[in-house]
Amino acid sequence: MKADELKTIAIIGAGDMGHGIAEICALGGLRVHLYDIQEAFVERGKQRIKASFEKMVSKQKMAAEEMNRALGAITGFTVLGDAVKDVDFMIEAAPEILDLKIKIFKEADAHAPAHAILASNTSNMSITRMGAATNRPDKVLGIHFFNPVMMMLLVEVIHGEGTSEETMQTSYELMSRLKNFRGNMVPVRVEKDTPGFIYNRLGAPIGLYMAELYEKGMVDPEAVDAKVRSIGAPMGPYEIMDFTGLDVNLHGNAYFAETLSPEFEPRGWMKRLVDEGNLGKKSGKGIFDWPDGARPTIDPAKADPNFDVTDIICLQVNEGTKLLEAGVTHSAAEIDKAVVNGGGSVFGPFALAKGMGWDKVAERCEAISKRLGIQWFMPTEMLKKGNIEI
Ligand code: NAD
Repeated sequence: MKADELKTIAIIGAGDMGHGIAEICALGGLRVHLYDIQEAFVERGKQRIKASFEKMVSKQKMAAEEMNRALGAITGFTVLGDAVKDVDFMIEAAPEILDLKIKIFKEADAHAPAHAILASNTSNMSITRMGAATNRPDKVLGIHFFNPVMMMLLVEVIHGEGTSEETMQTSYELMSRLKNFRGNMVPVRVEKDTPGFIYNRLGAPIGLYMAELYEKGMVDPEAVDAKVRSIGAPMGPYEIMDFTGLDVNLHGNAYFAETLSPEFEPRGWMKRLVDEGNLGKKSGKGIFDWPDGARPTIDPAKADPNFDVTDIICLQVNEGTKLLEAGVTHSAAEIDKAVVNGGGSVFGPFALAKGMGWDKVAERCEAISKRLGIQWFMPTEMLKKGNIEI
């Protein structure tokens, strides 16, 4: 099936991600079946979409007719079989629990038309396992949006072991057709079902590095964030952890510890804060204080002169070469594209580090690895040989 023949899509789960995905699809001219387990959750999702459109209309960035058309394209469901019965495509955005997702895929497979493509918005879990739960693994893939969906342009289109090239291409074309409030969506192909895919995987060594520096008492988070903000970043790495939620970070680290290396095991300080219920922004306290949800105070005068942001970039480049070596993507430029469009940076790590010389980047990674005793940071063969095109 060609992307322009896809007319109806089911979104499974109307939470933070699901309502945003439904919103972008309705805006893109698709008929949307929005499913959740209770009527109240479907309604909440629809209300969030309405409020978001109304904000755009009030700013005159969207016509009222366009809003009414898009809202009219969304129908709510609380029976999964009914929601997927006559759709061409499904995107599952239910909680990040593999058994739950497998159950949803089994049921959707039993009720959706044979031609329908079934996708998961999972942040990390195995697309291959979800595909294997169906009788159509060739039509199962990952479609990974970023939060908030209406503002982040990146969408990763992920190949499970059984996914066909036709499914990848149709899905990629469909994503290219969609727009959010910032512009056209930017799909990036992920050729292998691998932990963290591309964007989150490039964030993995940063999370590990920052967690270890804090654990060892080698940094003051406020001083690091002040330094990172002094060079133009909107948020420092520790504030980002608090903003995302320390519980989310902890689960992410635990997952990487299980799938990549035990060196990712969550550090003691993070476990302690999570145990105490200090999760960051959402609980009002984490690494920093978030009074009534307001951003923490970071004193620019405290900027740590010894914290070198280049270290983070070098670690990201090294992680990127692991993805290139494994064939998760075939181009460093695609990795940069993912990093730029999934977050707030203007340039990707490869573009930023190129001028340093790959040999220097490799030396820096080796030095960090030895200083902290973390093997994961050792440079790859590809980086050492400088065998990178950008
Ligand atoms: P959420 O908790 O906000 O929403 C999940 C929704 O699923 C809720 O409305 C819940 O009622 C519903 N639900 C519960 N059980 C269900 C079931 N059996 N069938 C269908 N729906 C069910 O979670 P979220 O942040 O929207 O995350 C959804 C998915 O998107 C997860 O896989 C998550 O990893 C992924 N994701 C999240 C983010 C993020 O930043 N929040 C970013 C990218 C991907």
